Amino acid sequence: MRYALCVMSRLLNPKTSRLSWDETFMNLAILVSKRTACKFVEAGVVFIDGNKKIISLGYNGPTEGDYHCIDVGCAKVDGDPQTGELKRCRGAHAEVNGIINAQDTRRLRGATLYTATFPCYDCMKSLNNAGIKEIIYYEEYARIKKGGKSTEKENEARELADRKGIKIKKYNGKVYCDVKN
Ligand SMILES: [Zn+2]
Ligand SMILES: [Zn+2]
Repeated sequence: MRYALCVMSRLLNPKTSRLSWDETFMNLAILVSKRTACKFVEAGVVFIDGNKKIISLGYNGPTEGDYHCIDVGCAKVDGDPQTGELKRCRGAHAEVNGIINAQDTRRLRGATLYTATFPCYDCMKSLNNAGIKEIIYYEEYARIKKGGKSTEKENEARELADRKGIKIKKYNGKVYCDVKN
């Protein structure tokens, strides 16, 4: 300690702090959510192993080769680009894409998930089967209903996590990403 103090007194750069792991990975999850091609939902995830190494990243959005919401609107809110008929969301969720991006799902067993948005029930099922042990999230999730006028909560996701003993923590740290459209 005495050595550290004596070293610091001769350093020119006053920087003495850095991002915590939580700040690093949550801000990364929020940043990657900005990659989405959806107009309404920006969701991003980072999966981390026990040594704080990144296993994979994921964000929500239309699947390979499908229409992009930013080009033609969301199927659930703006309707089918040809007929205007309201349809189901064409996006894959960030968590599922993150699981696919891990390439070998054995790497996810025991992993921690940092996610900009609390997982929906369907994703929680997949996270449970992938063996995720801890979830750190920033915002609550509410599913947009057809037409985009209202949302619904999914309490089943948290119930499943509680039943399985998946640790859940709300991130209350700083958010540095302020990427506007
Ligand atoms: Zn969309
Ligand atoms: Zn989901």
